[in-house]
Amino acid sequence: TICSVLLENGVDFAAVDENGNNALHLAVMHGRLNNIRVLLTECTVDAEAFNLRGQSPLHILGQYGKENAAAIFDLFLECMPEYPLDKPDAEGNTVLLLAYMKGNANLCRAIVRSGARLRVNNNQGVNIFNYQVATKQLLFRLLDMLSKEPPWCDGSNCYECTAKFGVTTRKHHCRHCGRLLCHKCSTKEIPIIKFDLNKPVRVCNICFDVLTLGGVS
Ligand SMILES: [Zn+2]
Ligand SMILES: [Zn+2]
Repeated sequence: TICSVLLENGVDFAAVDENGNNALHLAVMHGRLNNIRVLLTECTVDAEAFNLRGQSPLHILGQYGKENAAAIFDLFLECMPEYPLDKPDAEGNTVLLLAYMKGNANLCRAIVRSGARLRVNNNQGVNIFNYQVATKQLLFRLLDMLSKEPPWCDGSNCYECTAKFGVTTRKHHCRHCGRLLCHKCSTKEIPIIKFDLNKPVRVCNICFDVLTLGGVS
């Protein structure tokens, strides 16, 4: 194999370039699916290593992934089912948020299908719900894909309007996306048949639209 040839020639899989990228970071950056397969299955490269910009190979995929990014993502999960999908880079971006900001719809879909959390904020408070894009169509499609009730999150501020929770501003959850919201941002109720919630439950405005329009914005 390529790997054993490299090993016989004394290639060090812990080696990194001047930016702290290991062989897997670089293979992902250039979209080399076959090299990635070899690195993930036959080599001892650290698949979760952070480079000097605080990015793992999966963050690189979110930032630089092209047409085959979804295939690379699936390969990662096939080889490493426990790969930490929601781990943020140094700027707080998850692979999903990076892919979303790059508009890589196929990669976003693969990530959401695998059960990654949708609502993670980066260090600037940006997430896939509030990131400014020309159309919310991709967000709608991703929410429409949710097949089971996501775990509820906690926090001290509303995920939508950032109001601080306290005695007068109580915490609520959208039963569809799991976001923590104030009353004002979660006034609508609707049954969520796909979650077996047959009575109306509290949802956010975006999820209400998704659930009534079926993922078409
Ligand atoms: Zn709110
Ligand atoms: Zn929601």
